[in-house]
Amino acid sequence: MNVDLGPYLSAVPEIVVDRLRGARRVLAVSHENPDADTLGAALAVVHLVEALGGAADAVCTDPVPSIYDFLPGVERVRSDPDPAVVYDLLVILDCGSLERVGDVGVRHAELFGRLPRVIIDHHASNDAGGAADWIDPVAAATCEMVALLAAKLGVDPAAIDHAIATNLMAGIVMDTATFAHPNATPRTLLISSWLVAAGAPLSDISRRLYRSKPNAQLRLFGRILDRLESADDGRIVWSSVTDADYTEAGAERAHSEGLIDLLSQAEDAEVAILFKEAGPKETRISVRTRPGGVDATVLTGRFGGGGHARAAGATIQAPLPEARPPVLAEATRLAATIER
Ligand code: 5GP
Ligand code: MN
Repeated sequence: MNVDLGPYLSAVPEIVVDRLRGARRVLAVSHENPDADTLGAALAVVHLVEALGGAADAVCTDPVPSIYDFLPGVERVRSDPDPAVVYDLLVILDCGSLERVGDVGVRHAELFGRLPRVIIDHHASNDAGGAADWIDPVAAATCEMVALLAAKLGVDPAAIDHAIATNLMAGIVMDTATFAHPNATPRTLLISSWLVAAGAPLSDISRRLYRSKPNAQLRLFGRILDRLESADDGRIVWSSVTDADYTEAGAERAHSEGLIDLLSQAEDAEVAILFKEAGPKETRISVRTRPGGVDATVLTGRFGGGGHARAAGATIQAPLPEARPPVLAEATRLAATIER
């Protein structure tokens, strides 16, 4: 099948194409607590560069959760750049701000500051202003943007046993919840068609990311859902995950992924919040909001976080019981401004 992405290729800045084409040794960096979009984008960039005759490494500061084991090349993701390599280009993927690369950016601040860079990201809150920083908030996923880049570079996504197609499809499936979120546009679907035609196993990817879970994770979900609380006639819905929950369910921290999407199914909720204990003095929040309602980045922005209008997060430097009341108060205040 012939899918023509031609009408969309003008969205890719020439300088991004030139930097990728000119690079011989690329460092592709994902965000901390990685997901399929940031990993798929980084691995696709690695494969793209290799298809063009260069070499590349993928870096993520945190370990990659096993749910992403199926991404082609994921075993090559390193926590730090290779000290033996002289890199000539930094590519930062799916990071709404530079801090999102996490501690690796602190450990290698000199290298990260010195290398010519390309940023590819779809967060509206991203204010990066470098010459080759490409931010497209209309893209459903960073992988959607990297797919356009691959097409513009003339790289066949079916190459290397469908590695590029599979990684890019995984990111799009992740960030659209398999085309269920309102961020999926005609362009998203056309690009996905191109990737599936190139051999990306769409239904297998969707099953792995959304419809298959270890029993321990299902038990963890049960505990957290059972503890659901609500306020303001159900307009605010929340639950909390503590360290003890993981231990008692036999689950891992990565298993809390997906819980917020269940909380956000609460039918009257304007704002759904999951509070996650992330240490004795640290709490992570995940926020989801109803279309046409509260801007999730406004709520998380009050606490130093960011994300998208419907899905955002933040890390708060306080123990969970202290972090919760101010977040709920702010959520209630914002939800009160919404009229249906
Ligand atoms: P999640 O709730 O799934 O962890 O994150 C939802 C969205 O918010 C993701 O697109 C992610 O990129 C963004 N996000 C999550 N946590 C943070 C954060 O601490 N800072 C910023 N800037 N964005 C975040
Ligand atoms: Mn993303």
